[in-house]
Amino acid sequence: MSNSDEKYKRPTWDEYFMEVCRTIAKRATCDRGRSGCVIAKDNRILVTGYVGSPAGLPHCDEVGHLMRSMIHADGSITQHCVRTVHAEQNAICQAAKRGIPIDGATVYCKMTPCRTCAMLIINCGIKRVVCEKHYHDEADSMQMFRDAGIHIEHLEDSVQTYENM
Ligand SMILES: [Zn+2]
Ligand SMILES: [Zn+2]
Repeated sequence: MSNSDEKYKRPTWDEYFMEVCRTIAKRATCDRGRSGCVIAKDNRILVTGYVGSPAGLPHCDEVGHLMRSMIHADGSITQHCVRTVHAEQNAICQAAKRGIPIDGATVYCKMTPCRTCAMLIINCGIKRVVCEKHYHDEADSMQMFRDAGIHIEHLEDSVQTYENM
């Protein structure tokens, strides 16, 4: 047995699906956060999604972002790109389009889902959410997941940063 064989570490299921997420994310069309999503159950992939414009509409990579200001409860204002359907939302859309039940499944995604995605995930009957990293504005989502009894975990403690704020 060679030295490299001895060092080989077989990925866990969580690591396996997260690796698939990273590959899917390469198809994303908004460079503010190229993210991918896998929804799996019984260790099998049901549907996938990546962040991008609705089908047939121009992409951020082609025409630039569509920025909107969001005012928070504490008065702070942040800028968000609203051109895209999020990776989690696109995975849910794929399930709806293809008639694939995702009740009781696990969501794998790049960072803590945003408030809107969190609400959709809860109402789809998802039982567990696995994120690669934290999201800087995740308090609402984390609270809703707790209240809804959904188990959420992060593979890394770090917060996702944006290259194109
Ligand atoms: Zn964008
Ligand atoms: Zn989202």
